[in-house]
Amino acid sequence: MDKFYLYNTLTKTVDEFIPREEGRVSMYTCGPTVYHFAHIGNLRSYIMEDVLEKFLRYIGYDVKRVMNITDVGHLSSDGDTGEDKMVAGAKREGKTVLELAKFYEDAFFKDCEMLNIKTPDVVEPATHCIAEYIALIEKLFENGYAYEAGGNVYFDTSKLGDYYALTGHSADDLRVGVRDDVDEDGNKRSKTDFVLWFTKSKFESQELKWESPWGVGYPGWHIECSAISMKHLGEYLDLHCGGVDNIFPHHTNEIAQSEAALGHSWCSHWFHVQHLNDREGKMSKSKGNILTVSVLKEKGYDPLVYRMFCLQSHYRKPLEFTWETLDNSKAAYERLKNRIAAIADEGELEQEKFDEYKAKFIENVGNDLNTSLGLTVLYDLLKADMSGKTKLALIADFDRVLSLGLIGSEEKAEESDEFTEYVEKLIAERAEAKKAKNWARADEIRAELAEKGVTLKDSKEGTTWTKA
Ligand code: AMP
Ligand code: ZN
Repeated sequence: MDKFYLYNTLTKTVDEFIPREEGRVSMYTCGPTVYHFAHIGNLRSYIMEDVLEKFLRYIGYDVKRVMNITDVGHLSSDGDTGEDKMVAGAKREGKTVLELAKFYEDAFFKDCEMLNIKTPDVVEPATHCIAEYIALIEKLFENGYAYEAGGNVYFDTSKLGDYYALTGHSADDLRVGVRDDVDEDGNKRSKTDFVLWFTKSKFESQELKWESPWGVGYPGWHIECSAISMKHLGEYLDLHCGGVDNIFPHHTNEIAQSEAALGHSWCSHWFHVQHLNDREGKMSKSKGNILTVSVLKEKGYDPLVYRMFCLQSHYRKPLEFTWETLDNSKAAYERLKNRIAAIADEGELEQEKFDEYKAKFIENVGNDLNTSLGLTVLYDLLKADMSGKTKLALIADFDRVLSLGLIGSEEKAEESDEFTEYVEKLIAERAEAKKAKNWARADEIRAELAEKGVTLKDSKEGTTWTKA
């Protein structure tokens, strides 16, 4: 297995990634809260997590990746106050919560498909695991970490020695990193305590409620991810992912309750993607300043241009979105695709060169998932002295990680070969017609090609063509 170095939010250093079991990785991703379309900020996180998963597979790991779908319990503040986002969304759209969840979950996976994001091995809606949350909360009571107050069940953070292990925060700067506002909840013994189970809450309109030993109610958001992860990946987790806003309180609380229930450390490596911002700051569903993949498509951008845009920068740096920078990525992406399309599949496969460039790609991407350095290796090989066959083999190989659609499927390639042959035959015929001063036939050919979306450009060197 090749070495892979990855920043770990828990240790705050770039560590060699070493899973617990040789050759196998258990990976958990916080899924979307399905009360609205995912914005391209959310999708930055999912694109980079997709690259991470694919890179692990590329270097030979057997990965099992699990993702939840948050369809209950995520309140408008991550600090457990405000309205349930799903209930508010259902009201807004005149749908039931489950209809709303289904609609936006489907929309999310459509977006993922357009961005070549692979669906995780297990996708689990939070509403499917009520029995698991109850069992985990019971364990927390048994171990002395849970208490009831004002009808809700809370986690007692004062019982922990190192609640802030992930964030490095202290109680004084609790607000740092919290999404939205934090109101005080008088039932809490300490202000960092969080809700495990809501019962007598102020949310009369809560549509989905379940029986529990503590009364009819619904789970808190944090307990969902711990329980779903344990259900599918067991007591130890190698890798947990999310955007940086998840570090506190969500992931901090996941660690607290998981380790309190299990009695041992839980997840060894934490991966967080920095935010996509626009000029007003962090793109956020609740702020409403959102851009979706559909909007990009309507404006004429191939969704993979956005994937390229994300891969051109490092996941640990905030990324500012502007239309100008997206246009730069568009131009780069189109140029790259054209250069690749022009490579003839000829010559022998030069194994030594293949291995040399592959090793460089692994070294670069394996240095804290440096995708832009990975792209540099791709550009280098385009210029390198090697056979077309070797180049195409390397590009297809790197694209297993990059997923930029750099080489079409074989069927598509065959189709495009045929089309190229057809266009070039007509261009040659047009040149003959022009030589013979048969202008009518030359114009006819130009019109026939235009109908197929082909634009001709004549110059001293001959005729070139582009396809819309
Ligand atoms: P949500 O649907 O709000 O639960 O968020 C889904 C994922 O998107 C989480 O991993 C968040 O951390 C992440 N996320 C939210 N906003 C952004 C942003 N502006 N840029 C990058 N990731 C984000
Ligand atoms: Zn989560």
